Amino acid sequence: MRKLLLLTLLPLYLWADAHLFVFHRFNDTRHLSTNTSIATLRAEFEYLKKNNYEVVSLKRLQKALQSGEEISDKWVVLTIDDSFKSFYKNGLPLFKEYNYPFTLFVYVQGTVDHYGDFMTWDQIKETSKYGEIGFHSFGHPHLVSLSNPAIYQDTKKGLDIMQKELGYTPKYYAYPYGEYDDRVRAQLEPFSFDLIINQNAGAVDKDSAAHDLDRTALTGENNIKVKLRTRTMPTEWISPKAWPKNGKISTLKATLPKEIKRVEYYISGYGWKSATVNSGKLVVNIDKKLKMNRTRIFLKSGNRQSSIILVKGK
Ligand SMILES: [Zn+2]
Repeated sequence: MRKLLLLTLLPLYLWADAHLFVFHRFNDTRHLSTNTSIATLRAEFEYLKKNNYEVVSLKRLQKALQSGEEISDKWVVLTIDDSFKSFYKNGLPLFKEYNYPFTLFVYVQGTVDHYGDFMTWDQIKETSKYGEIGFHSFGHPHLVSLSNPAIYQDTKKGLDIMQKELGYTPKYYAYPYGEYDDRVRAQLEPFSFDLIINQNAGAVDKDSAAHDLDRTALTGENNIKVKLRTRTMPTEWISPKAWPKNGKISTLKATLPKEIKRVEYYISGYGWKSATVNSGKLVVNIDKKLKMNRTRIFLKSGNRQSSIILVKGK
């Protein structure tokens, strides 16, 4: 009886996850790895519409996280990084047609220095009538390679320019390249962002940290249906938490929800493997040199997933 009751309640808990997605370029076939065709975007929007997903703004999500209210499993948040002209030209009209809110994360130097592919301030202002504007750094640096003062300076410089150009300071930050660690995150704290967003594929629930929200890339083919299946797996990463100094993972350690007995884990360059979890403790002896300077570690149990990125600094 008790077991049956638990099984009935379980899906309610498992499904209360919102999904954050990130796009970059639209109908720009010069850069296929970061491109989304308009045909694909339309198919994705149609999928969301037909299946009663509610596209909400980051502001709405932030309000829910702040108040601790339950997050709807039908919520989807759409974001665009880098403020490329191809969003303004090709993507924005479709967002307007579907009346979907979005957040555009601006790479400030691209606009300041008039790099060919980037929107002008006037285009960004026009865009802000339809969506929110976030901050994606001044110079799009590899933050993990920067000193603490350099991270502070890049952030301050970019925010000051946005305040001057737009008349306000954005409250949402998205890491360039999705690269960060605890040290990088700590350098952003003085700026009091409401939300800080990474690029670790996953989902968001009411207990997700406002300064470390998972976001999944949507590029290439229409695979939104598969990506919407991902559920949160609250994970406390114990080791490694940043790029290990000797470039070697000795032990993979994390604390997971107690009901998880087994996970699949993935380390870039080494593929998927399986491990048992004892009372929520995952401890695996790895003893391997990292092969990639950007290494991702994924943990998966059914549809539940969490991930971390380890980036080699200078
Ligand atoms: Zn970027």
